[in-house]
Amino acid sequence: MLNGRIVIYGRANSAAGYKIRDFLTRNCCEYDWVELNTDEEARKLAGISGATDPRLPVCVLSQNRRLYCPSLRDLAMALEWFKGPKYECYDLAIFGAGPAGLSAALYGASEGLRTIVVEKIAVGGQAGSTSKIENYMGFPDGISGWELASRARQQAIKLGAEIIVGLEGVAGEHQDGWQFSWFASGEQIASKATICATGIEYSRLGLEREDYFLNRGLYYGAGSSEAELCKGHVVIVGGGNSAGQAALNFARQTRVTMLVRGECLKDTLSTYLLERIEDNSSITVLTRTTLTKLEGDDALERISYRDEAGNTTSIETHSVFVCIGGKPRLDWAKPGVLHCDPAGYILTGPDLDRSGLSAEMWTDGRAPLFMESSIPGLFAAGDVRHNSTKRCAAAAGDGATAVSMAHQFLMSVKHQLLGR
Ligand SMILES: Cc1cc2nc3c(=O)[nH]c(=O)nc-3n(C[C@H](O)[C@H](O)[C@H](O)COP(=O)(O)OP(=O)(O)OC[C@H]3O[C@@H](n4cnc5c(N)ncnc54)[C@H](O)[C@@H]3O)c2cc1C
Repeated sequence: MLNGRIVIYGRANSAAGYKIRDFLTRNCCEYDWVELNTDEEARKLAGISGATDPRLPVCVLSQNRRLYCPSLRDLAMALEWFKGPKYECYDLAIFGAGPAGLSAALYGASEGLRTIVVEKIAVGGQAGSTSKIENYMGFPDGISGWELASRARQQAIKLGAEIIVGLEGVAGEHQDGWQFSWFASGEQIASKATICATGIEYSRLGLEREDYFLNRGLYYGAGSSEAELCKGHVVIVGGGNSAGQAALNFARQTRVTMLVRGECLKDTLSTYLLERIEDNSSITVLTRTTLTKLEGDDALERISYRDEAGNTTSIETHSVFVCIGGKPRLDWAKPGVLHCDPAGYILTGPDLDRSGLSAEMWTDGRAPLFMESSIPGLFAAGDVRHNSTKRCAAAAGDGATAVSMAHQFLMSVKHQLLGR
């Protein structure tokens, strides 16, 4: 660690190196990245046997403490980022520090609620990994997801929110008007109201070496900003609106092929996007086609796909964006107690079937508030909520609205607030 900065030694195109850099950046931690290209550099700079040594990347922390190819958890532990919650009880507990969770945190804290945010990986959520968000109000030149998240984090902390990174909520229970939450670390907190803002996890292709090529040419989702970084032939997998938008963005500067499993785009794509794609000579749409193989050494170099007739074609590409949707992150929820739609998104307020609500929990005869789930006092905000708009601004709006709903709930049950 030089001048308080972590030094990371690694090879170019190393997915492990990318993960560590992304994790540190998204957690607002400064570092120096030193790329090792030869065995001599590896020996001299990183003190290991050569550029193919499996101990890479090497992270050098304070007092010359070295971590060899550390997991993100090991790194966070070494940096002493893991700390438990300050209190046992909170007015408001928020799970997930993406745009929805951060916005809820700053509104909750600014309104005097004792507020905690628990985040499994890094502040910013999906948005934190986006290099430029161009459609967020107030930033005409765009803003990086990391910067937006970092500002929101500072603001929420300044207003009194407690934000804990590296802690995963693994189970929740409603008991006697309280929400109890358990963490992977074994700790537990109680809160009077809870906001679930855990977002979605992108679906995987299920191909061999998929993990290896992740962030080395294979990416999940496709932000408008990524278009500027990709040169050469771009392949988009998927036929929904997010795939269509991504294709149009990339097509502004490069050749795009869309691999679509379905028969046509008409059923899955909005008409305006369909028309634009059909009119765009840089986009080729291959329907009834499935991506079957990923190939390359250090990074993705080639893919194969199979058409309806069973013929396989192989093409060169260094950039594949997978936009096949995702599933909500709700591993912690007890099936049946939290009511979800068939795709697994949390149903709230008017979308809930009141006749199916637990009479044991809903003793006061009131209807669930807008954004309140089938569990009294548990609210959902952002991408994880049924019918939400999958956008940063919408998620931030959801977070603020969920806090106002939580306030109404706390008033209705006449909870004595703990404050900060
Ligand atoms: C590549 C890409 C580019 C995008 N570009 C844009 C764009 O340009 N403009 C735009 O408006 N939108 C964009 N989006 C969409 C936008 O990022 C999402 O709609 C938004 O981030 C959703 O916010 P959220 O807070 O609901 O969830 P997320 O951002 O997904 O955050 C959820 C957080 O919850 C945490 N979490 C999950 N489970 C647990 C648990 N059990 N315990 C604790 N924490 C947990 C996760 O680690 C994560 O940090 C993009 C998305 C992607 C993937």
